[in-house]
Amino acid sequence: MSEHFDLAVVGGGVLGLAHALAAARSGRRVVVFDREARANGASARMPGVVSVTGQPAGAAWRRARRSRDIWAEVAAKAAVRVEQEGLAIVARRPESAAVLQSFLATDMAEGCQFYPAEQARALFPEFKGEMTGVFWSPHELRVEARPAMAKIAAWLSEAHGVAFRWETAVTAIEGGRLVTSRGPVVAEATVVCAGDDFRTLYADRLAGQSLTRAKAHMLRVRYDDGFEAPGVVASDLSLPRLPGFADLPETEALLARLEAEQPEHLAHGVALVAAQSADGSLVVGASRAFDATPDPFQPQSVDDLILDELAAVVGKRPKQVLSRWTGTYAFSAERPVLLDAPAPNVRVALAASGAGASAAFALGEETIADLFG
Ligand SMILES: Cc1cc2nc3c(=O)[nH]c(=O)nc-3n(C[C@H](O)[C@H](O)[C@H](O)COP(=O)(O)OP(=O)(O)OC[C@H]3O[C@@H](n4cnc5c(N)ncnc54)[C@H](O)[C@@H]3O)c2cc1C
Repeated sequence: MSEHFDLAVVGGGVLGLAHALAAARSGRRVVVFDREARANGASARMPGVVSVTGQPAGAAWRRARRSRDIWAEVAAKAAVRVEQEGLAIVARRPESAAVLQSFLATDMAEGCQFYPAEQARALFPEFKGEMTGVFWSPHELRVEARPAMAKIAAWLSEAHGVAFRWETAVTAIEGGRLVTSRGPVVAEATVVCAGDDFRTLYADRLAGQSLTRAKAHMLRVRYDDGFEAPGVVASDLSLPRLPGFADLPETEALLARLEAEQPEHLAHGVALVAAQSADGSLVVGASRAFDATPDPFQPQSVDDLILDELAAVVGKRPKQVLSRWTGTYAFSAERPVLLDAPAPNVRVALAASGAGASAAFALGEETIADLFG
């Protein structure tokens, strides 16, 4: 006998959970399917930075703000610890300082500050590398991604009655009927949040969307003699990668200097993100390499580029690498967010960027409003 729901969500990553929350809050009976036993895709492998500053100007930035607010609310309700608040971008070069100072003139800079070197050294004594200043944004949150996914799913189940069907693959959506590896399920509507799996559901439609997959290296490290991060830490290499900064004219000069001085970092897509956990260890990343089928390897040479950049900011290299992992995520240079409607009662929601988790909860609200009116 088939079960009956108002909404089926395919995918138990952060996008799936966000859509489940928005639908459950509007009184719908929701079921979430995931082929894995728990979230184990990008949402469980990321450093868990919910970012605002650096997002593209306009609608995307407003979405990031809204999403961050829901993240904060969900974290409190689902007993997810917010490990860190705020983002410190260490400007290692005068060209970066110019970009960051120029950003302060935009309407996205509310609450942000740039501290020139002398002041920055006093305020952020943990950064012992060469620097021209530190930019501070108070808007970011950081959660420990893997446990956060499990806690949010448990809270959705307990507080909102969302049903979860783990280890269940959805192989087809036929009107209001889902074909799953454990039998059929009836749902009035379906949202597909399948992450970087573009080949199972609506593969034909997704094939025309310029999508690829990005592989990123991550490490967990520890400084023997301690290091206390003031917030999430980034550096010069992040600026050309974050559209909110990259779109400023000053970024051209920075990029030219980075191309001359750190070509290997650019070639491997390295942009520093370092986020501290409750036990003092740091989650550090990340590289970026594109391929339709990313290879499974994590070369030491690329990890070294990431650790070199951390050392340039902190002034020393961590002695202990506690673990290493790779993750993959959907990527589109043209369309960082995709909301497709392959049928009147079906939506495909895809975050095709390295910041998809940040936008997730606002996207969930938008899709559910679009689907149910
Ligand atoms: C290393 C790394 C660092 C990152 N850093 C950040 C960051 O700091 N901040 C940020 O905002 N973003 C970050 N990102 C990007 C972010 O993680 C992703 O954009 C986001 O997690 C995508 O969420 P998702 O739910 O769409 O995909 P996923 O988390 O991949 O979830 C998709 C789920 O769908 C399931 N699924 C797929 N097809 C089916 C099917 N047919 N039937 C059943 N189940 C199915 C999969 O098993 C999977 O669990 C990072 C990504 C990586 C890999």
